[in-house]
This record gives sequence, C-alpha cells and structure tokens, in this order.
Amino acid sequence: MRTDFQNAVPEGELESLWDNHRFAMKLVSPANKHKYRVLIVGTGLAGASAAASLSEQGFHVDVFCMQDSPRRAHSIAAQGGINAAKNYPNDGDTIWRLFYDTIKGGDYRSREANVFRLAQVANNIIDQCVAQGVPFARDYGGYLDNRSFGGAQVSRTFYARSQTGNSCYWVRMQP
Ligand SMILES: Cc1cc2nc3c(=O)[nH]c(=O)nc-3n(C[C@H](O)[C@H](O)[C@H](O)COP(=O)(O)OP(=O)(O)OC[C@H]3O[C@@H](n4cnc5c(N)ncnc54)[C@H](O)[C@@H]3O)c2cc1C
Repeated sequence: MRTDFQNAVPEGELESLWDNHRFAMKLVSPANKHKYRVLIVGTGLAGASAAASLSEQGFHVDVFCMQDSPRRAHSIAAQGGINAAKNYPNDGDTIWRLFYDTIKGGDYRSREANVFRLAQVANNIIDQCVAQGVPFARDYGGYLDNRSFGGAQVSRTFYARSQTGNSCYWVRMQP
C-alpha cells in the first residue's frame, strides 16, 4: 500500500484497518461533546456532511467557506447519484466489486485504503442521507430506486431526480 504524501492511513490489512483504527480511537462521552468546538474548512458535501453529523452529535461546529454562499461548492454539480453496494436488484454487487470498480474508474490512481472504506460504508451513507431527508428517487413500490451509471455492470447508483448534489445540499444546509 502507498504510504507517501502523509496520508494518515493506518497500518494493517485493507479490509480491517479502518475498523481497527476506529476501535482504537478514544471516545468522547455524550456529556462532554458540547465542550468541543470543531472547525471545518469547506462546505462541499464532505464538509457539509461532517458539520451536520457532528453538530447532531452535540459538538459545537464552525464551518468556513470562501464562496458567496455555502452551497456554491463544487459539489453542487454532482448529478448522477451516489454509489452503494446494497445489491437491491440482486445483480451480483458486493463491497469488493464496488471497491474494484471505483479504483478502476479512477484510473488506478486513487488511494486504495480510502476507496475501500468508502465502499465499506457506502450503504450506511445512503441510510444516513435518507434519515437526514435526501429525496432519493423511489420506484413504484416506494423502495429506493437505483440505476446503472458510469459504465457499471450493476445497478448501484442512488440518485435524486432534480440533481443529486443539489438535493443533498438542500437537506444538509438546513439550520
Ligand atoms: C459535473 C460533476 C458531476 C459529478 N457527478 C457526480 C456524481 O454523480 N456522483 C458522485 O459521487 N460524484 C460526482 N461528482 C464528484 C463529486 O461532486 C465530488 O467528488 C464531490 O462533490 C467533492 O466534494 P468535496 O466536499 O470533497 O469538495 P467540494 O465540493 O469541491 O468542496 C470543497 C470546499 O472547500 C472549499 N475550500 C477549498 N479551499 C479552501 C480554503 N483554502 N479556504 C476555505 N474554503 C476552501 C471550497 O470553496 C468548497 O466549499 C461530480 C463532479 C462534477 C464536477
């Protein structure tokens, strides 16, 4: 595994290193979370999601951006949807296949450990987005719809019809 660029990737096997790292981290008592102030630079989906989730947990969060509006980050452009290997259509998707496709889609230049973690938690990310109110497209039965997107041979893209980035923003930037 590449360890240059000070990427802060923990040592260990790909499939367990983040879980082990997470387990080894110190917890903050719920009673103490309000004592911490978290500074987040950038209001793209990464920053906005982190801000929404951390403030929901009770931390004080300050978010900084340099555009006219927090919603003007590059993330507003994302339209296709969010990939997750929920395998709803039973077309053979797995976390490993999502990991492999994502590495391949990034021309083998992405950081493997981080892509694996993304594939590992993608199902939870969709659930969290739904819980926070992202209006993902639904099929006629009312279940989350997904589609084949970006050349993938499986249907794993969860999308919002207006525009996915925009919809995620709309939800996450609510006060
Ligand atoms: C046209 C298009 C379509 C896409 N479609 C999809 C898709 O369908 N599905 C998908 O998963 N991905 C898609 N992507 C990729 C996805 O949008 C990005 O990977 C994602 O939005 C990146 O989010 P981010 O929060 O990391 O970065 P950004 O949204 O770029 O946010 C970075 C933030 O940091 C701020 N910032 C940077 N430097 C500083 C600084 N020095 N001080 C203060 N603030 C700073 C910026 O102003 C901005 O607010 C698409 C991208 C594009 C361009």
